[in-house]
Amino acid sequence: MEILRTTSAMQKWSLNRKRVGQRIGLVPTMGYLHQGHMSLVQLAHERTEVVVASIFVNPIQFLPGEDLAHYPRDFERDERLCREAGVTAVFYPTPEEIYAADHSVYVDETLLSKGLCGRQRPGHFRGVATVVAKLFNLVLPDVAVFGQKDAQQSRIIQRLVRDLNFPVEIVVGPIVREPDGLAMSSRNRYLSAQERQHALSLHRALEQAEDLYRRGCRDVPVIREALEACLSVESAVKIEFIELVDNSTLEPVTTMGGAVLIALAARVGSTRLIDNIVLGA
Ligand code: AMP
Repeated sequence: MEILRTTSAMQKWSLNRKRVGQRIGLVPTMGYLHQGHMSLVQLAHERTEVVVASIFVNPIQFLPGEDLAHYPRDFERDERLCREAGVTAVFYPTPEEIYAADHSVYVDETLLSKGLCGRQRPGHFRGVATVVAKLFNLVLPDVAVFGQKDAQQSRIIQRLVRDLNFPVEIVVGPIVREPDGLAMSSRNRYLSAQERQHALSLHRALEQAEDLYRRGCRDVPVIREALEACLSVESAVKIEFIELVDNSTLEPVTTMGGAVLIALAARVGSTRLIDNIVLGA
């Protein structure tokens, strides 16, 4: 497994792979890898001859006051996991390598970024879209794999590829959960044992909504109330949003027709957690 730390080495590596006819799969990550990330590597392997995992804590997608400085990092462990998963190359640049000191061009998706997490974190998706566009130009992937865990991000990347004509196929992998249902996340590491228990209410709330839906409920306010009631059981869980939106446009829905994305964001202690489910897909 190769470790590439510069933009020029990365691009050269990819151009060489292309020259010999190999298709490149890319899994962009911020590191501190878990089985959710590795499931995306697996999906890439199924589609391409070589797989690149990028590990880059992207400073421009963090807002002032967010956890950029404290974001968990463990490159040695990440490297081992990538090796075990058969990753062909890890792209591990520094922020200075990615952003020139006078960097001044950004990619801004202006519609899908407005709601959900974008409302709470203005500028976040501009940072994400910018770094993903740069990664596409550096890694030159045929396929890039993202997680449904960050549903809004996945939709924005699909739009980015469509609207800027990147020749990249986007694959979205399902959410990988801990045995007790908690969606895997690098940020779960911030949770104390007690907060970890409280955090389970996000998944429980989504399960309850799914149960209602399966029993025939199509009433958006009723489903929203059930979600709210379930999340409010733990006073330590501070709801940021409960949204029921069209799974492709991310516009709020008033009826449960078609594929509906139920997206939750909540703070447990100081940790911000997100989770979601798609009903009617
Ligand atoms: P991150 O390192 O948190 O930026 O995540 C990198 C990629 O892994 C993103 O496409 C995420 O959506 C995806 N991802 C994160 N958590 C999970 C999970 N529990 N299951 C599947 N994919 C995930």
